Amino acid sequence: MERVLGIDLGTTNTCVAIVEDGVPTVIPNRGGYKTTPSMVAITEAGKRLVGHIAKRQAITNAENTVYAAKRLIGRKWTSPQVKNAVSTASYKIVEGPHGDVRIVLRDKTYSVPEMSAMILQEVKLFAEDYLNEPVTKAVITVPAYFNDNQRQATKDAGTIAGLDVIRIINEPTAAALAYGFGKNVDKVLAVFDLGGGTFDISILEISSGGVFKVIATAGDTFLGGEDFDGRIIDWLVDGFKEQNGVDLRQDRMALQRLKDAAEKAKCELSGVTETEINLPFIISSGRNDALHLQRALSRATLEQLCEDLIERCVEICRQTLEDARLDKDEIEEVVLVGGMTRMPAVQEAVTKFFAREPCKGVHPDEVVGLGAAVQGAALVDESREMILLDVTPHALGIMTAGSKFEELIPKNTTVPTSRSKIFTTSRDNQTAVKILVMQGESEQANENELLGEFILTGLRRAPKGQVEIEVNFEINSDGIVSVSAKDLETGQAQSIQVTASSGLTKDEVKSMMDKAKDFLVQSKESDEFEGVRQEAEKLVTDIEKMFPQVESVVASSDFGREALSKARGILQKTREAMDKKDANSVKEQMEALSRTHRMFKGVVSRPH
Ligand code: AMP
Repeated sequence: MERVLGIDLGTTNTCVAIVEDGVPTVIPNRGGYKTTPSMVAITEAGKRLVGHIAKRQAITNAENTVYAAKRLIGRKWTSPQVKNAVSTASYKIVEGPHGDVRIVLRDKTYSVPEMSAMILQEVKLFAEDYLNEPVTKAVITVPAYFNDNQRQATKDAGTIAGLDVIRIINEPTAAALAYGFGKNVDKVLAVFDLGGGTFDISILEISSGGVFKVIATAGDTFLGGEDFDGRIIDWLVDGFKEQNGVDLRQDRMALQRLKDAAEKAKCELSGVTETEINLPFIISSGRNDALHLQRALSRATLEQLCEDLIERCVEICRQTLEDARLDKDEIEEVVLVGGMTRMPAVQEAVTKFFAREPCKGVHPDEVVGLGAAVQGAALVDESREMILLDVTPHALGIMTAGSKFEELIPKNTTVPTSRSKIFTTSRDNQTAVKILVMQGESEQANENELLGEFILTGLRRAPKGQVEIEVNFEINSDGIVSVSAKDLETGQAQSIQVTASSGLTKDEVKSMMDKAKDFLVQSKESDEFEGVRQEAEKLVTDIEKMFPQVESVVASSDFGREALSKARGILQKTREAMDKKDANSVKEQMEALSRTHRMFKGVVSRPH
């Protein structure tokens, strides 16, 4: 049976899992770690770095190291979240050709799905190494509160990376799948998922027959660990300015060091109550004096700085319970997901709100990837009894007269579903209507996300309000939305399948996919070259070192002089092939090089 990767493509970390012999298992990366930082960098030499290796050089290459790309994926350039990111990110964010967001690294511009694809391509590669076979199918998770454009953009990222994304599922739902895996229980569960960039809460009902039904979900796609780090950074920058009159925000490298130190301090304060942030030579004062940053941060101060962020999470939980029409005491288990739930104040807030201790049995960093793997296995193996009933996180509807939003499918409706509503013309003699399909909760249509539009023409000329049009919305189990509009009098109809816009056209996705494939070939070639180059370099250096000694012994005979001249020729040819970065030519010299090496070794080790 074909294998399916379960991928939790997180804001901060990415985790990949697979079901092996019926057991969901996390696949470690090349360094043996179970999660890989969601970071990509381009070095001065143009080399691409992904994961830990990118994170390690982030401070010295801040402008060309991308983190938290997930916060930008599928968003429009004009969104307030993007504005916020433009002013705080250490890398350059620019407007794309379709009002989307692009990232500039070393003068090259990349779309956000391309950046995410680089991470996916890397996890695909190490997963294939681990499994010792190619894998193309994947289930990728997204925050439950992602809209359709963000979901489509994530899917595009998978396609660019050469993956066939067979399903996109919600992170908290995936966590519930992993939690419920192999347990024969009937339970109402709350999954509280606070990661690096996003917050989600989902209330689910699991039943012993393997049915996972989401009752309600909500969240904030711009609330996560990054915001907690941001509070510490602000506190450090403000304090430093007060003390030294210097604004650290003006220096990208200083900012990256602050970011690193802030995250580290935050994580430390989950275990201890006080820590020290120490950043020597953070910036020069302009009079050639280097300034140092040294400040103690207590857990209490951190909690004060982030109090409102935690309160926002709790408020969303309150709202979700209301949406689910459940009382707190009807929640039988609380599952914590995401690295930020290690913060004691977050755990305390959750415990206080739900009036129960959260479940200890799941690993907050791995549970989502594991759940995605469980879903992947169930999709290709029909013998696995598992039914997943998810909901639409946002309402769907159309724009009506006066730019009002008219809801057809309310949020938290179980999918698949379909709903119809009858509308009438709003002007006299109106012969056409434009249907704008939107997603969101605001009554003002322009505050919601536009998913697609189409026009129904040929309406009968009549006074306004007389022609009736039936609009039908349908969402299938893959979350694909189809909308149709029908003139009830003539039966004339128009429909579209709403393909959410990731900000990229189909052609762009295809060309990015080709580029990603070429990159793989080139990087394989360059890795291969590097391998032979290192081997050849070692032999060349050794031979050159031995040359004077060998010369003094053998140069007296014709045979010896000939051998030395041959050796010189081989060394020169090898050097030329290495300069040309020509792996095949280097390989061609290897045999002669090894022979010469053996011969020289024999001469120098002989007693004279
Ligand atoms: P995730 O997206 O689930 O990988 O979560 C990553 C976020 O969790 C980042 O913001 C991390 O800084 C944060 N995090 C990881 N470990 C801890 C910890 N021990 N205490 C507080 N936050 C943490």
